[in-house]
Amino acid sequence: MTRKIKAKSWITSLLLISLSLSLLGLSPSSLAQENTAEEIDAIFKKFDHGEYGDQEAIKEALGFLTTNVSPDDMERYLKLQTVLCWNNYDITKQQALKDAIAFADMKLLTEGVAASPEITTDLKLCRAFMHQLLGKVDVALEEYNKVVAEAYLIESPRLIADSRSLRGAIYSFQGNFAQALEDLITAQHLYESLNLQYWAIYNLTELATSYRRFGDPQTAIKYYHKLEKGFEDTGDKNGANAIKTEIGFALQELGEYEAALKKHKEAYQYWRDTLGEEASAYTAVNVAGVLIELHRQGEAKPYLALAEKYVQPEQGASYSFMRLYQAQSALKDGQYQQALDYIDMAEKAFNQIKNTRGLEMLHMVHSQIFVAEKDWQQAYEALLSYIQTHKALDATQQTNRTTEMRTRFNTEQIERENQQLIELQKIKENELVILKQNKYLQLAVIVLGCIIMIILSIVAYKQSQKSKLLSILALTDHLTQLPNRRYTYSKGEGYFKSKNEEHHPLSIILFDADHFKKVNDKYGHDIGDKVLIALANISNGLMRKQDLVGRVGGEEFLVILPGTTAEQALNVAQRLVTTVESSNFDDVYMNFKLTISAGIACSDGDKSFEQLLKRADDALYRAKSSGRNCAILDT
Ligand code: GH3
Ligand code: MG
Ligand code: MG
Repeated sequence: MTRKIKAKSWITSLLLISLSLSLLGLSPSSLAQENTAEEIDAIFKKFDHGEYGDQEAIKEALGFLTTNVSPDDMERYLKLQTVLCWNNYDITKQQALKDAIAFADMKLLTEGVAASPEITTDLKLCRAFMHQLLGKVDVALEEYNKVVAEAYLIESPRLIADSRSLRGAIYSFQGNFAQALEDLITAQHLYESLNLQYWAIYNLTELATSYRRFGDPQTAIKYYHKLEKGFEDTGDKNGANAIKTEIGFALQELGEYEAALKKHKEAYQYWRDTLGEEASAYTAVNVAGVLIELHRQGEAKPYLALAEKYVQPEQGASYSFMRLYQAQSALKDGQYQQALDYIDMAEKAFNQIKNTRGLEMLHMVHSQIFVAEKDWQQAYEALLSYIQTHKALDATQQTNRTTEMRTRFNTEQIERENQQLIELQKIKENELVILKQNKYLQLAVIVLGCIIMIILSIVAYKQSQKSKLLSILALTDHLTQLPNRRYTYSKGEGYFKSKNEEHHPLSIILFDADHFKKVNDKYGHDIGDKVLIALANISNGLMRKQDLVGRVGGEEFLVILPGTTAEQALNVAQRLVTTVESSNFDDVYMNFKLTISAGIACSDGDKSFEQLLKRADDALYRAKSSGRNCAILDT
């Protein structure tokens, strides 16, 4: 009983421990923190998916993040640094770009950032992008190469996509279409697999532009129209207007200048209305370019004048074309020296950004200026340069075509590689989530497991005790607690068959209470029972350790005496008979007397234990017949 109570209190305390452990994770203060954390994560996710369209919303979100993300929450604090680098700076302003670079430089030196490869890589990518916008394309490209390598090293699909998308755009601009397509197609698959629709669309824009530059404006326009609609559907007006510019370029290449002009003007108007004169300066260059193609340089002049106010040499792409258009405009006005000066500036800019297509156009204009000046020699040389550049472009375009074919064949492999990356990423994410969610659950499971084990062991222990008891009960006589008939016979048989010499010779004594029926009749069954118990004790007390007394019938007992001769057994039996006769049963009933009769047999060529038993029984019968209260040996 006490053991039962102890086991119960054990289980209860274990249950209490597991309960309090699971409650640990649910205190009110941690719940409040979790709410803010959820909000913060939702904002991060919106940034990741490019879901912040307008500047106001971005400002508000960044404000919330900076006040609510604590430096103690290392993971979110680091993430915030990358979000700030990418979103906290007005990329249309030179100074802001420099500030962003300084911010990234500073953050990269901090310990926390240095310890996180993902954050480090992301910040480096952001810094490279700012360099690119500042016109330091070579610096940017070098950094992109490093970032791509690092992104593969840390197996981050998102960073691989971002870095290859940005690098692909530069390759494309420089006319390096083979590498551009490899980068952009890879990024495209990754963005689509990661379900980052917004970035997938942006990347597709670059891919389409690459086709345009590659000399396939028709394919490009097809993509562009799809993209423009996509941007408009998602309410991203900036995106839609960026596409208008690209469509304008493609139409220009197809010789559809009026349509191109319309698109460029729409884009120009949009930027001017939403962000102001400075932000629209780049698109003003584009409008001027088409107007000059249409021989409407009068109309082009105000656009060029506006562009000149804001477009700096750092903005290589716009600046180089602006200078080229200014040269064309000056040429039309007959200001040849001015035109040549512009050509110089344009040539430097085109060389710096390695724009061969721009240089090709430039050499043609250069030659036209010399023709106008009637300087045939120089005109001829400029034409030669034009032809050279043209040939070089042709050659690269030829290799580009081959590579494009190769790239298209490689697409399947790219897709496979990307799929592996994505799956790896998913596994990593799942592992993290499971780890976090199951921290307490696991503990609870362990504790419950222990409890179950303990209960099972208790049950098993009890079961074994019970079966032990059952087997003892099965072999014991319940009244006298002596071995019962079954056990006694099997023991006797065991000794009979034993090869152990110590067990032989084997003797047995079968004894029976005399006139016991009368005992019951005279004193009652209860007294009879008590007498039997006393008799069992008396006989058991007389025997050696190796002997065995069993109750084999109602008032009939069998003594097994291993390693005992017939004479020794007869002695024991006679002692037993006299002891019982002289025993006092006063405890049971005052002046009660009992005698027994015994038959003895000693194994001597018997075929079986039953045969030996039969001989003892015969001897007992003779003892009864010869007046009882005696022992007879079967000979
Ligand atoms: P004898 O052996 O000397 O020839 O005479 P007896 O009266 O002992 O003969 P018998 O073997 O015919 O009778 C045995 C009696 O023992 C029968 C029964 O009433 C009694 N007896 C048997 N088992 C028990 C028991 O467990 N308790 C009690 N009280 N009596 C029992
Ligand atoms: Mg009897
Ligand atoms: Mg009997």
